[in-house]
Amino acid sequence: MNFDLSEEHKLLQETIREFCQEEIAPQAREFEEKHEFPTPLINKLANLGFMGMSVPEKYGGIKTDLLANVIVIEEISRIMPSLGVIFSVHTSLFCYALNQFGTEEQKKQYLTRAASGELLGAFSLTEPNAGSDATNLSTTAERSGSNYILNGTKAWVTNGQNAGAIIVLAKQKELSTEKKKRLTAFIVDGDSPGLKVTKIEKKMGLHASPTAEILLENCTVPASQRLGEEGQGARIAFHCLDISRIGIAAQAVGLSQRALEEALRYARQREAFKKKLADFQAIQFMLADMATQIEAARWLTYKAAVYYDRGQPFSKESAQAKLLATEIANKVTYQAVQVHGAYGYSREFLVEQLYRDSRVLTIYEGTSEVQRLIIARNLFQE
Ligand SMILES: Cc1cc2nc3c(=O)[nH]c(=O)nc-3n(C[C@H](O)[C@H](O)[C@H](O)COP(=O)(O)OP(=O)(O)OC[C@H]3O[C@@H](n4cnc5c(N)ncnc54)[C@H](O)[C@@H]3O)c2cc1C
Repeated sequence: MNFDLSEEHKLLQETIREFCQEEIAPQAREFEEKHEFPTPLINKLANLGFMGMSVPEKYGGIKTDLLANVIVIEEISRIMPSLGVIFSVHTSLFCYALNQFGTEEQKKQYLTRAASGELLGAFSLTEPNAGSDATNLSTTAERSGSNYILNGTKAWVTNGQNAGAIIVLAKQKELSTEKKKRLTAFIVDGDSPGLKVTKIEKKMGLHASPTAEILLENCTVPASQRLGEEGQGARIAFHCLDISRIGIAAQAVGLSQRALEEALRYARQREAFKKKLADFQAIQFMLADMATQIEAARWLTYKAAVYYDRGQPFSKESAQAKLLATEIANKVTYQAVQVHGAYGYSREFLVEQLYRDSRVLTIYEGTSEVQRLIIARNLFQE
């Protein structure tokens, strides 16, 4: 049992922390306020090799373990939560899925560009009528000679508008009567004829991370771009989500840490009744609870990543980390606003944005209720 990060992980943590402070922080708020996709910031991450964190060297990446990926997502999210989710979807969903399930040809074609930052990846499972009930897809894939023809509407696609390629899940009715065994995954180029971004969602938070609705209208995908075998789509999607959920837990930890830092700073400055807020025990207790909960969430998140890195079963740990860290992020940001009083309700203070940004964490990549279902299923199997 060792509660210290290794020297390599510590060095990585220091490097990415410094980088985010110097290169991301000065521009983060502006992208957020303008609802603008942060391409220049992604390019900076790419220049340091981070966009290829889950891509093997053979394809131009700097493949690290998952713990390293988690540390980077945490630090990015501490400075800019929108960039945290953009990065997490690219590295721990798109690149991971391709590396794990792609053919050699697909890896050469997509991973090399993904590692250099030339191509941003997205992952599209959700549909207007299929969220938690993820295998209930309406989008169809029909084989036609050496192609598949995709038709349907995909919803809530992070990076969807800016993606060079999207992993799309669709159903092939003829494969099975069981919903789970009907799904197949495809790598769909962002500029494919028949693929159209039909809407950008107007969201409560994460304004620098646009979320797209995508229409697939007779969208032709070469059979060589099928990811895995026909009928393996659900298995691929659920396995990849088990991993990327740890990334969302890390996003929650980074965002919560920032909320705590902002609350601490404010409590030291603001005076009431001729005392600093920091002198009131009620405020101290709030800060103490925030710090304690964040620490618990951080270690559960690291534990899930380490279990994966060691090759141990990690599905329950991943769901537990996601559940705890995202629920805590909502509590911590609520308290950070409370410590700020009226100023916490003002757009001038960062905690207002963090409060809004945290709300989605218990919803995407599986709601808290879905995480509890996964945890309970694992408990009964153990
Ligand atoms: C900003 C944002 C970005 C997203 N990015 C992506 C993306 O990149 N790719 C992608 O594929 N999807 C993405 N999503 C979609 C997201 O993963 C889904 O919204 C999520 O899975 C929940 O599905 P839903 O919204 O349809 O809710 P529903 O499934 O309709 O659930 C509504 C409520 O019912 C509860 N519920 C549902 N079923 C059960 C059950 N069996 N037991 C108990 N409670 C239940 C839920 O927990 C929730 O509280 C994104 C969503 C958002 C908001």
